This record gives sequence, C-alpha cells and structure tokens, in this order.
Amino acid sequence: MGALAPLAAELASRLPGRVEADAPFGARTTWRVGGNAAVLVRVEDVADLAVLAPALPGSVPRVVLGRGSNVLVADRGFAGVVVVLGAAFEAITVGDDTVTAGGATALPVLARRCAAAGRSGLGFYVGIPGSVGGAVRMNAGGHGRETVEVLVDATVVDLTGTGAPVVRPLPSLGLGYRHSALTDDGLPPGEGAFLACTFWLIDNYLLQRRHAEARTLFDRLLGIRNDVGLLAEEYHPTLGRHVGNFPQAFSHVALVSTALNMQRSERRAAPRRSD
Ligand SMILES: Cc1cc2nc3c(=O)[nH]c(=O)nc-3n(C[C@H](O)[C@H](O)[C@H](O)COP(=O)(O)OP(=O)(O)OC[C@H]3O[C@@H](n4cnc5c(N)ncnc54)[C@H](O)[C@@H]3O)c2cc1C
Repeated sequence: MGALAPLAAELASRLPGRVEADAPFGARTTWRVGGNAAVLVRVEDVADLAVLAPALPGSVPRVVLGRGSNVLVADRGFAGVVVVLGAAFEAITVGDDTVTAGGATALPVLARRCAAAGRSGLGFYVGIPGSVGGAVRMNAGGHGRETVEVLVDATVVDLTGTGAPVVRPLPSLGLGYRHSALTDDGLPPGEGAFLACTFWLIDNYLLQRRHAEARTLFDRLLGIRNDVGLLAEEYHPTLGRHVGNFPQAFSHVALVSTALNMQRSERRAAPRRSD
C-alpha cells in the first residue's frame, strides 16, 4: 500500500482536500468488510475527473465506488485508486419525457423523485440499494425491468483516458444481464458480444413470455446483418461493426433456431380466432 504514497501526495497537490491515502474501502461497502484503499479520491465535479484521469499512471489499478452494494473488498485491501463521486453527482432533473440523474444518485431517491413528479417507469429502482452509476455499470434491474429498458444514454468519463466526458448512446454500453461494456472483467480488451449468446438470450425471454423484449432484440440483431444478410461470430457494440470469424455458422444456426422459437411462441401468445 505504501508504494502508492508518492502518487497520493501528487494527486493531493492537484486536487487539494480530495485525496486520502490508506483510506477505508471495505468499510464503505454494504458488507462493511475488507481492507483499505491505497488511495481514495473524492471527485466533486467533472472538472476534478479531468484533472485526475491524466494524472493516473497506466499501471495503477483504479475503480469507481458507488454505494458499495455490489462490491466485496479483500481483507488485504486494494493497492490502487478508488474514486468516489461527491454531492454534485447527485443532481436530478425531471424533464417532460426523460430524467437526467447524476452517477451518485441513490436509486431509491431517483424512483421516489420520479414518482413524486408523476413520472412512471423507474419505480423498479425503489428497492435496489445502488447508485445510478452502479445501475448503468451492472444493468441493475428488478420486478421484471432492468436499466437497459429505461436508459437513453450515459455520460461516461474514461479514467484511463483524458478524463473528458463522452456521451455514450445505449447500444454502445453493451448492457446484458447484470453486465455492461463499462467493465474490467479480466478479459483482454476488444471482445464483442457473441451473437449466438444474444440469440439464446432471446430464447430465454420467450420462455419467460417476454415477447416484446424478444422481438425488439431479434429485430436489432436482424438489423446488424451485412448487405447480403450475413452475421459474424461477434458484434462490437462500441465500434458498431462485426468482429471475430466471418461469416459464422453458429450465429446463423442460432438465428434460425430463435426465429422458429419466436414463431411458435408468438403463435401461442396470439389471441385465437373464434369461428
Ligand atoms: C440488499 C441488496 C439488494 C439488491 N437488489 C438488487 C436488485 O434487485 N437488482 C439488482 O440489479 N441489483 C441488486 N443489488 C445489487 C446492487 O445494488 C446493484 O448491482 C447496484 O447497481 C450497484 O450499485 P452501487 O452504486 O452500489 O455500485 P457498487 O457496488 O459501488 O459498484 C458496483 C460496480 O459498479 C461500478 N460503479 C459504481 N458506480 C459507478 C460509476 N459512477 N461509474 C462507473 N462505475 C461505477 C463499480 O466500479 C463496480 O464495478 C442488491 C444489492 C444488495 C446489497
């Protein structure tokens, strides 16, 4: 941990009052277990992020902590930089058709504010003890809805880059079951989404009778075929193009199988004609 003391001092000189060395980390999670972070930075606004990101050496691990409801910290602690978002990231603006909420906004607070303003659609957040940032990162959901169904876009700051905010449209965020593309999952970078698996997701929607979601995702997949109707092994949601083997038989087998499942399932769900 002490190895990052010089970095903590350097960051403290750039962001006075915002940096703590050897700071409680596990204690900030809902489990309240686990060790300390070598460095903890509390950013108060987007400008702080623009100072912080370029000052972080590439070799130093970094992680954003939301409300800590999906993080388990090792007893030995975290030999890197933990970033927490300050009060400026808790702002909520309720518009006519959309709601804008800062990354640190508590999900139950967001749900209640929307309900009080007469806006429906985010009620499922009321029982999830996370933040908006954590919900985007994890595609949080419950009661039959998840973040991917209500999100329009997210303003994202890459802490390995310049720190400049970038508005990322929903498809580029790669939201799947409790997963997003905003993740360091230990895999080498550059992987796309395996299309056969996305067809299997549609099959699962059908088994749960979530026909509208199945149809929406199926149409999305049909929409990414190339000009002669072929699919690759994977699709990269950020780059917006096919990656991996091309053409890929498994993607097409999955497409045909899912199309049959859709047809059977939609027929079963259709109201019967009375003769
Ligand atoms: C009692 C309990 C009930 C729960 N119920 C549900 C449920 O019904 N549905 C459900 O989906 N989940 C549930 N969860 C899990 C958890 O609440 C969600 O995953 C939530 O989205 C995590 O948000 P958080 O702010 O706590 O994130 P954290 O736990 O702090 O972090 C989780 C991940 O998100 C990243 N992250 C957090 N904030 C940001 C940010 N601003 N920018 C970038 N990355 C960020 C972190 O780096 C980490 O990788 C539950 C957890 C508990 C303890």
